[in-house]
Amino acid sequence: MGLASEAPHVLVDLPLAIDPAEILRFQGYKPGAVPDAVVRALFDEALVLGRALVRPRAALRWLPARLAADRLEAGGVAFTVPGLSAAWGAIEYLAAAVATIGGALEQRVRELWDARELPLAAMLDSVGSAAVESLAEYLNDLLCQQGLPHGLRVTNRVSPGYGDWDVADQRALFAICPGDGVGVTLNEACFMLPEKTITLVAGAGVAARVDHYFAQCARCWMRDCAYRRVPARASVRRDG
Ligand code: SF4
Repeated sequence: MGLASEAPHVLVDLPLAIDPAEILRFQGYKPGAVPDAVVRALFDEALVLGRALVRPRAALRWLPARLAADRLEAGGVAFTVPGLSAAWGAIEYLAAAVATIGGALEQRVRELWDARELPLAAMLDSVGSAAVESLAEYLNDLLCQQGLPHGLRVTNRVSPGYGDWDVADQRALFAICPGDGVGVTLNEACFMLPEKTITLVAGAGVAARVDHYFAQCARCWMRDCAYRRVPARASVRRDG
């Protein structure tokens, strides 16, 4: 199978579009809520600043995998992820990724805090959080596009530390997909640096579950995809 590799591929200079709705979500806004003019000006300023500071990169590796009774095995490591067998169905391959926007944005946030420019610091921090979430979504779309030529369906992503999945499994994830190619380190407490980093895994199989894939297709930039479930609304790719 052409997807699997011995080491991660490093993707750089990804044409990421930061989802504005995600920024507002990190600011505590409910979906559809419209900020006032003052907040909007702050939002615009932080977004311009953030776009100049983010450097989206990802280490990405496909491996043969086995999933049974919520135990996921790939590359000599094993994860226990509650509910995963039901969510993914049958899979034969796993994609593991370490995705980051780099450390420049969080450094600027620290400088703004030190200068007591608190509203802009908080908004810029939300831009960074939204950027790395958008990057994870970008990768999920990309993984689906990589699986289709091989006749494989690609599931939604999951990450150690989210839901019921123990954050300690970050170590096993780094064992099969190290972050050093994108400048990400993991400490003893399973805390990653730069902070604006997300690790993720997604499964792939001829009969993997994608019946809940509507949100994924809704912002995927592969417009002529024969497997698309809903029309594209917006994309997390700049020219998508
Ligand atoms: S449109 Fe949907 S099925 Fe097609 S590649 Fe994108 S996410 Fe996958």
